[in-house]
Amino acid sequence: MYFFLKFSLFRRIFLLNEVSLYERRLSKRGSNTIRLQLISKTELSIQGNLELSRSIRNLTRELAINKKGNYFFNDHNELENRLIKKLKLMLNMTRNDNDPTCHKCNSINYCAVGRASKILDNCPMKMHPDIEKKAKELYKKDEFVKRSTGVASIVEAKGYIHWPRLKDTIEYAKGMGYTKLGLAFCVGMIEEAKRIAEILEKYGFEVVSVCCKTGAVKKVDVGVPEEYTMISKTGYTIGWITCNPVAQALLLNNSSTDMNVLVGLCVGHDINFTRLSEAPVTTLIAKDRSSPHNPAAILFSHYGKEFFAAELKNIRRLEMKKKKE
Ligand code: SF4
Repeated sequence: MYFFLKFSLFRRIFLLNEVSLYERRLSKRGSNTIRLQLISKTELSIQGNLELSRSIRNLTRELAINKKGNYFFNDHNELENRLIKKLKLMLNMTRNDNDPTCHKCNSINYCAVGRASKILDNCPMKMHPDIEKKAKELYKKDEFVKRSTGVASIVEAKGYIHWPRLKDTIEYAKGMGYTKLGLAFCVGMIEEAKRIAEILEKYGFEVVSVCCKTGAVKKVDVGVPEEYTMISKTGYTIGWITCNPVAQALLLNNSSTDMNVLVGLCVGHDINFTRLSEAPVTTLIAKDRSSPHNPAAILFSHYGKEFFAAELKNIRRLEMKKKKE
């Protein structure tokens, strides 16, 4: 068993200390050893621990095996990024010291006024100037990003504090030149969807909409365990028909909408929808059943604090119990 990295492939990404960290981790877990060798600019040899190498092989769809048993890839950068991510995950390196933690900073005094953090060493402006530069280039080179950024900033400046989010959405769509909008809405928000459509139509948009229960697919037919159907664990009727964000996205794709608007899709269903939607997606209403669809409301309210205090106390209690067993 051995671990080998051909530096010509990884030079730009692996800092020396990262490499030694990988090696140390790998040597502690002897079975997790693998050999990655760059054969040519587009050919990679993968050998070593079977399970690990299989995971690496599976991690990128662009890899195609050739007769010699090596793997072909098209995009160097993409391959590097994916390999690094996968390696870190496999070696339980969920976060290293270089990862950004902007929530611990006081951004209003730093990046928001044009300078890097003085209180965090892992400020991405200091740790990753290459990535910040790449992002900057995208604002110039990527036509969609360029346009969308400009329109969003104009909307912000024009309506700041005065405009509701629906008006921001309308102005953004107008600024982008969109005429056909899709609504992906939750069955529990049919009245909201009707009102949104009515307003959008008055502003001249063509509106297409799809309800989350479209297709009438049974939850058990998409792999949901029976015990999580019909009645929620909190005692409410939730039914046996699954939300169907996949069909919502496919139907709106079929209608060639210019932009899709999420109206109260559940967490997870919204992710599936966003993943499959061909048109750009914006969220108008983020579902939060506990606080009439205002997820921010719980953050600083008494009820939100009480809820998480009780929840976390319970988690700690269970952990302690487990440790004692
Ligand atoms: S100054 Fe740096 S660390 Fe602080 S919020 Fe901005 S980018 Fe993040």
